[in-house]
Amino acid sequence: MQSGVIDNYQNVLKRVKTACAAAGRRENEVTVLPVIKYAKNEDVLTLLNFLGSGAAAAESRLQDAQKRWELPQFKVLRQKVNLHYIGALQSNKIAKIVSFFDFIDSVPDIETARRIDVAASKPVKCMLQVKLTDRVTQSGVKPEDAPALISEIKNLKNINLCGLMAIAPQTEDEKILRPLFKTVKQLWDKEFGAQKEKYLSLGMSGDLETAVEEGSTLPRVGSAIFGEKQ
Ligand SMILES: *Cc1c(COP(=O)(O)O)cnc(C)c1O
Repeated sequence: MQSGVIDNYQNVLKRVKTACAAAGRRENEVTVLPVIKYAKNEDVLTLLNFLGSGAAAAESRLQDAQKRWELPQFKVLRQKVNLHYIGALQSNKIAKIVSFFDFIDSVPDIETARRIDVAASKPVKCMLQVKLTDRVTQSGVKPEDAPALISEIKNLKNINLCGLMAIAPQTEDEKILRPLFKTVKQLWDKEFGAQKEKYLSLGMSGDLETAVEEGSTLPRVGSAIFGEKQ
């Protein structure tokens, strides 16, 4: 990709700004979560050094993440970055994921939540993944089953449940997207509204504006910042 990651990132912020204006939201309610899974190390370093302390970034593969964050230039940044895990949670990798990441955004069910609870020695910030498609390959809880699961997870000592994450179907059709985002937003208001630290992670590069208009506080943006997978 020719244009720089900083320019791309600024452009994403502009899109967020426009969406906030359209929906009458304040821009500071929304934080862009850069998804670095397919990004070149050089580009990730450029962005993270630009963002400075308190920057966030998301990975979706444990092994790739471990390799990357072992590199000296990444190691010195690690304490300054809130690292989110947004990938699949195979049971044999959970202990490592718990010790490596600051947030686990993709908790799909009670079994996984229990494994995280057992593996952790102090409360881990987690989000529940809500399933918005019928695809068997997509994990997560159906919106109608979420309240029961949320109250179960909130009883686990080593999980600090602080929001919801959802991946929308791959479509630009707003008639499909909006009602799905609205469903998750309503659920989030009801279940997390009274909580101080809370996140609603909706939207990716393709559906960013719609997600922000519908209330997302933490859209996850990969390709719009770093380009398509090489
Ligand atoms: C890769 C990924 C993203 C980023 O997708 P883009 O379309 O590249 O912005 C967001 N969320 C999850 C869960 C992902 O795996």
